[in-house]
Amino acid sequence: MDKKKLGIKKKKTKEARNVEVKTYKRPPWVQSGEEELCSDCFKVVGDRSRYNLVCMLGRSKEGMTVSELTKRVQLRQPTVTHHLQVLRSVDAVASEDRGRMRVYKLNRGAHCFEECKIPY
Ligand SMILES: [Zn+2]
Repeated sequence: MDKKKLGIKKKKTKEARNVEVKTYKRPPWVQSGEEELCSDCFKVVGDRSRYNLVCMLGRSKEGMTVSELTKRVQLRQPTVTHHLQVLRSVDAVASEDRGRMRVYKLNRGAHCFEECKIPY
């Protein structure tokens, strides 16, 4: 029941998004894709280290934990967690609990990657 509700909500948001024309210029560290990005996509790539995390997750088949990601970037763990939350808010990553570990994976079918063609 709740799931159905959510679906309807999501659809409405998407329609509203089409009406909005605000776009953002693609940052120089994103090598290809659309020139103009919607606000969701800009959330994903507008911060260079956040986009780094996207690329790292894109190369990983099994997904990565926050501590694995933290080891590879020059950021503190709470910062990495924050970036992952932002990415999750636009559906760009999904998380999965494996025992005591929470594993993050790139959602390759997300709007940002499929429709706006953000490379990863
Ligand atoms: Zn977009």
